[in-house]
Amino acid sequence: MVIHEYAGIVTELEDHDCPHCGKPMEPWLPPPETGWDVILICNSNSCPFYLGSEEEIAHKREGSHLGCRYALNPQNGYKPVNVLAVCPH
Ligand SMILES: [Zn+2]
Repeated sequence: MVIHEYAGIVTELEDHDCPHCGKPMEPWLPPPETGWDVILICNSNSCPFYLGSEEEIAHKREGSHLGCRYALNPQNGYKPVNVLAVCPH
């Protein structure tokens, strides 16, 4: 079990490994405008899902270094969601 604590609110999340790179996923509180509660996210910069997404998005928005990280939304029965993130390279 993964415990996330923020502003006195404790959220308990299931343990999940990223199906793309096998790394344990970490709890993350998205910006309020997303409307999401704490989600589980793959923070690995070598994740094939993350690296593959950069190329895909580059065709749509030239010059931006955005990629999609693999994430699971516990409020949605741990269904996969895409989280847009800035690529480090
Ligand atoms: Zn991953």
